[in-house]
Amino acid sequence: MLLKIEKLTKHFEGLVANNNVEFGLARGEILAIIGPNGAGKSTLFNLISGMLRPTSGKVYLEGADITGLKSHTIAEKGIARTFQTTTLFDELRVVDNLAIGHKVRTKSGFWDTLFHTSRYQREREETQAKVMDVLEFIGLKHNAFDFVSTLPQEAQKRLSIGVALVSEPKIILLDEPTAGIIQDETDAITDLIFKIKAKGITVCLIEHKMRMVMDLVDRIVVLNYGSKIAEGTPEEISNNPKVIEAYLGG
Ligand code: ADP
Ligand code: MG
Repeated sequence: MLLKIEKLTKHFEGLVANNNVEFGLARGEILAIIGPNGAGKSTLFNLISGMLRPTSGKVYLEGADITGLKSHTIAEKGIARTFQTTTLFDELRVVDNLAIGHKVRTKSGFWDTLFHTSRYQREREETQAKVMDVLEFIGLKHNAFDFVSTLPQEAQKRLSIGVALVSEPKIILLDEPTAGIIQDETDAITDLIFKIKAKGITVCLIEHKMRMVMDLVDRIVVLNYGSKIAEGTPEEISNNPKVIEAYLGG
């Protein structure tokens, strides 16, 4: 397993947001985390990416314990993420947002930047090449110099994914990549996720649009009230009585 989650638990005051959650992420697969609102899906991403520390439990990346490491350290180790609501710099251009995303990959410090050392110059060229590469990949080459605030919602979503991709991750965590987008526009996001998989990047996504999930993913983990209630292929999950109950009952 590329990523392994063991008995992950997170308490907020009296609330149990994640309760002994366990699953693995195999290299090259697309896994969806689904579940009703408040089930603990985003919290799980926060624990994996180091935005929050678990109350108990472990996260392993390629067998190494990464539990509780700082978020920038986890990003450097190859786990990138997007957020449920986009965190782009609206007042900046598309290229600037991507260049900022590449910071994870560079080592230049204050002196390198001030004196334009060879390291700084080499890294600047690397950033430019990578930004061009990602612009093309996410289909925003012709919007490179547009201000983010002028882009349609769906293009902003693709850009957020691009910002995660410029750090050249092994794993990308996508928190509701189609939230706020109408059904007709989700195809562009679906296509992009398939392309990410084809590039060899492992994908874990939180998604509510079930038709999209069924077409896209290899495996599904279902959370309800912080606990995993089911895990399986899209077909197994759609026939699982516990899952149907979680969505329709309660
Ligand atoms: P989901 O993404 O599945 O909708 P979340 O992980 O965002 O669910 O939230 C799970 C539960 O944890 C919710 O009841 C939410 O209110 C609570 N929660 C999430 N983050 C925090 C926080 N930082 N502090 C307190 N409670 C939180
Ligand atoms: Mg959420």
